[in-house]
Amino acid sequence: MPKALVNLLDTPPDLIMSVALLTSPIYRQHDFPDHPENAQRLRALEAAIDSPALGLREFLVSLAPRSATVDEILLIHSERYVDALRRAMTQAPGFVDTAPTYVVPASFDVALLAAGGAIRSVEAVLSGEAGAAFALVRPPGHHARFEEPMGFCLFNNVAIAARYAQRNLGMERVLIVDFDVHHGNGTQEAFYTDPSVLFISTHQEGIYPLTGPADEIGNGPGAGTNINLPLPAGAGDQAMALLTNAIVRPAAERFRPDLVLVSAGFDAHWLDPLAGLQLTLRGYAQLTHDLSVMARQLCAGRIVFVLEGGYHLAALTGGVTTALRTLLGETNLPDPLGPAPRPEPDIGARLILYRQYHGL
Ligand code: ZN
Repeated sequence: MPKALVNLLDTPPDLIMSVALLTSPIYRQHDFPDHPENAQRLRALEAAIDSPALGLREFLVSLAPRSATVDEILLIHSERYVDALRRAMTQAPGFVDTAPTYVVPASFDVALLAAGGAIRSVEAVLSGEAGAAFALVRPPGHHARFEEPMGFCLFNNVAIAARYAQRNLGMERVLIVDFDVHHGNGTQEAFYTDPSVLFISTHQEGIYPLTGPADEIGNGPGAGTNINLPLPAGAGDQAMALLTNAIVRPAAERFRPDLVLVSAGFDAHWLDPLAGLQLTLRGYAQLTHDLSVMARQLCAGRIVFVLEGGYHLAALTGGVTTALRTLLGETNLPDPLGPAPRPEPDIGARLILYRQYHGL
């Protein structure tokens, strides 16, 4: 038994959940030199999961992705956009957005496989192949808009999986929690007038993509099912725990989801070079624990994590392995990267305001 998972031996068997991990070497074919969203992210993740010291792989159910069909992409994106992106492959490598979002000749096919990976992971959880799943896919998805690539994202993987679960798998109500440090603007747009998808995003305010204020609560029949929780620079584990307890959990309980999807970015870690929140690995363990307990209480544990950002390799690999180990039932995990270096700002006033916006 690997030493690092020794905690699991003390976990009562009924609390150990089977966890699926989906990834593919093909996801590394989308790559660009010196770009923060590069194939090394996935190489580092696979190395961490396979490391004999951690011994995590043997506890996971391995899943392989399939490609999403164009019809599945069209659940969220326009035909015009899909055609334009396919045509852009003839000009690749190059940039398709100023963020900058790059494409290489393989990117269109890799993006189909990323969306299909999110779909496959949802299918695995709903068919009972695994209790929970984590889709390690690239390119990420939550910034991708109806008709526009954006912020390193080509197709909106989590939004496509949510809509697929509704159309094909009998899931009426889907909760999407996005804890990437950047606002999931593409996902918000996809479901802004839709009361059947509750979108909750925690993100740092004042950074890319400069969207996601708290007063955007949804529109028309979707009024109330879009919850933006912007945070000031320096906010970390304490702020996230406050938001979870005061807003995310009660909002989820009120919504009563059939399925929970998580846009799991790890760029809110204090070491991340692209942003300024201060989550720690302990914070990610707590967050994963809280979300999985919520899923257990509200929808028979049906929860699927889909990778978004995370640009410091040790924070990214530490965050993902911490999330996987927490899903497996481990507690009291170590945090080799240590606590946040600065004290957190007080978010009490925001909390009151955010609760008011949503009648909580
Ligand atoms: Zn991000």
